[in-house]
Amino acid sequence: MLTLALDISKVRSVVGAKENYQLQVKNFDFQTTQFELADDLRLFLTIVNEGRYLQLSGQIETTVKSHCDRCLKEVILSVKCSISERLLFVNDAKLYAHLAVGELEELYYLYNGDFFDAEDLVRESILADLPLKVLCRRDCQGLCSKCGQDLNAGSCQCQTTEIDPRLAILAKLKATEEV
Ligand SMILES: [Zn+2]
Ligand SMILES: [Zn+2]
Repeated sequence: MLTLALDISKVRSVVGAKENYQLQVKNFDFQTTQFELADDLRLFLTIVNEGRYLQLSGQIETTVKSHCDRCLKEVILSVKCSISERLLFVNDAKLYAHLAVGELEELYYLYNGDFFDAEDLVRESILADLPLKVLCRRDCQGLCSKCGQDLNAGSCQCQTTEIDPRLAILAKLKATEEV
């Protein structure tokens, strides 16, 4: 049995039927180069039979661990994302043969029996909810590029004598004008 297989045998058989699902999943497989799951996954889902398809909606909650892009400190992010997707019986996919390649998959998630495996859907929803850039705080000062000192904790001894090259050009121009 798959970890996130939802039993849809009842709801799929009667138009207008509705079913609620509450799941708490331990050790859900979610890991990217940037993020790692740090808590159980909690799902609060509802599926309604709309006739041609099943409407799935609800919320995904969990906690994710990452690192600050600037100072590398550990950052904990709480994830709370709403989802709303249409599920289509795989045998009905042929009714959509007029759609361009890939278009059906954009509109629907397919199921092929009495279970819908929500694993991909959940993983994609969490990913879409996470920030592209992780910061421990908005004004994180990061680490000194020379000595590695955490600049949030205080400045380091490194000299900041390097002049912005654009300013250097201006200074040169100014000097020529003055001649
Ligand atoms: Zn930081
Ligand atoms: Zn330094």
